[in-house]
Amino acid sequence: MGYDKLIFDISQEGRKGYTLPHSEFSRKSLDDVYLRDDCPGLPEVSELDVVRHFTNVSFKNFGIEKGFYPLGSCTMKYNPKINQDIANMPGFSQIHPYQPLDTVQGILKIYDETQRMLSEISGLHTYSLNPYAGAHGELVGLMIIKAYHESRNDFNRTKIIVPDAAHGTNPASATVCGFQSVEVKSNRDGSVSVEDLKSVLGDDIAGIMLTNPNTLGMFEKDILEIAKLVHEAGGLLYYDGANLNPILGKVRPGDMGFDIMHINLHKTFSTPHGGGGPGSGPVGVTKALAPFLPQPVIRKVNDTYTIDDHVIDSLGQISHFYGNIGVAIKAYAYILSNGKEHLPEIAAFSVLNANYIKESLKDLYLLPVEGVCKHEFVFDGLKDKSTGVTTLDVAKRLLDYDVHPPTIYFPLLYKESLMIEPVETESKQTIDQFIAIMRTIAQEAKDTPELVKNAPYNTVVKRLDEALAARKPIVKYKDLE
Ligand SMILES: *Cc1c(COP(=O)(O)O)cnc(C)c1O
Repeated sequence: MGYDKLIFDISQEGRKGYTLPHSEFSRKSLDDVYLRDDCPGLPEVSELDVVRHFTNVSFKNFGIEKGFYPLGSCTMKYNPKINQDIANMPGFSQIHPYQPLDTVQGILKIYDETQRMLSEISGLHTYSLNPYAGAHGELVGLMIIKAYHESRNDFNRTKIIVPDAAHGTNPASATVCGFQSVEVKSNRDGSVSVEDLKSVLGDDIAGIMLTNPNTLGMFEKDILEIAKLVHEAGGLLYYDGANLNPILGKVRPGDMGFDIMHINLHKTFSTPHGGGGPGSGPVGVTKALAPFLPQPVIRKVNDTYTIDDHVIDSLGQISHFYGNIGVAIKAYAYILSNGKEHLPEIAAFSVLNANYIKESLKDLYLLPVEGVCKHEFVFDGLKDKSTGVTTLDVAKRLLDYDVHPPTIYFPLLYKESLMIEPVETESKQTIDQFIAIMRTIAQEAKDTPELVKNAPYNTVVKRLDEALAARKPIVKYKDLE
C-alpha cells in the first residue's frame, strides 16, 4: 500500500486537509519584500493521509508505550499521563516569561515548593531549577566548584576526579568547564578504589564526581570515608543524581557528604526522555554554596513569591527565563501524588525488580559481582562463551521479541557488559516475560547461534553495518534511491 513512502511522495497538487474559517476582516496584502518567490514545497495531503502517515511512522519506532525498556543507567520508566495533562493546563501553558511577578504567583509557588521538596529528598540546602538537562546540571555544578575555589583565591585546583565507571557526561562536563579529569580505578564491584583515590588527592584537586549507587548498581560502602578524604584535601563532592530512583526516601546524598548535585527530572520525576527533550536538571547545593547558584531561585518573602536576585556571587542565568517550567510542574505533581509515604516504594520496587531479574538469569548470563544490587546490574555477556554469541547479538535478538535492547558495552569494566535496569513501573508478569525471553535467547545461542548472530528479523531495518553507518551515513531520503 505504499506506507513506506514519505509524506512528500503522496502529495497531490491541490489536495488539502484543512478549511479556514470565513474571515470578518478585509484582506490586506503584505509588502512584496515579505512575500516568498515560490511555494514552500509542503506536502499537499488530506487529513486522513496525515493521520495514517504519522501513525505508520510511530509503528516503526520503539518506545516505553510499546514495550519493555530495560535500559541500564538511564531510568526509562513509564510516566503517568495525568502529570502531562496538568502541565498542559492553560493556566500553566499560556503564561508568558515576561509577565509581572504578581501575576504569576501560582507558578512561582510551584517553583518554591519543588525546590524545597528536592532539598528534602536529597539533603541539600537550596536548589535552582534553571538547568535544562543532566549534563547541563553537571556543567553548572562544576562552574560552582570553580567559583567556590576562586572566591577563596585558590586558583591551583584544576583537576576533577572521575571514576572509570562514570557516565560519559561526567568527564565531558569537566572538560567543557576547563578542568582536567583524573581517572580513579574502580574495584571489581564498581566501587571507588580508596587506595587509588588517596594517590591522586592533592592541592590541585577541585573535586570528585560520583554516583551512588554506582554504575554497577552497587552502593558505595566507603562513601563516608571518601567524603572525608576529599574534603580534607580541600575538594568538593559532586553527586550525579541523574537516576534517583534507587535512593528515593531511603538515603540522601547530602547526608553522605556531597556538596553539589543535579537531579534529572526527566528520568526520575515523570517526564519522558529520549528524542531530545524537554528535560530539566535542577542543581542543589549546601548552604555555603547557595550564593553561587544560577538564577532564578524563587523565595517566599512575606507571603509573596519572588526571585531571589540580590546574590552577587550567582552564576547568573544558565538557560532562558525560568528553565523548562512544564517539566518542573510534572515533577511537582508526581512528588505530591506519591507523597512522602510512597516515594520510598519507588526505590524498593526498582531494587526488588533488578535483583529478581539478576537472580533469575545468573545461571545463564555471567554475573561478575555477586550480592544485592540496587536499581541496576551488569552481566558480562552469556555464561557459555563457546557459542560465539556476543552481547550485541543478544541485544539485537531482543528486538525480535519486542523488547528494547539494554545498554551494552558500558561500563567498560567488562568485555561483554550488558546492563539492565527494569525500574519500578513494570509488573511481575512483564518481568517474568522478559526473563523467559532472555532464557530463550540463551538457548537459541546454544542450539542455533547463527539465528542470534543475524538478528533482528522483525524490525523495519535489519542489522546495520555500524562502521559503514558511521563512516558513510545516509542522512537524506533522496540518497537511498
Ligand atoms: C542520563 C545521565 C546523565 C546525563 O543526563 P542528560 O539529561 O542526558 O544530559 C548523566 N549521568 C547519568 C548517570 C545519567 O544516567
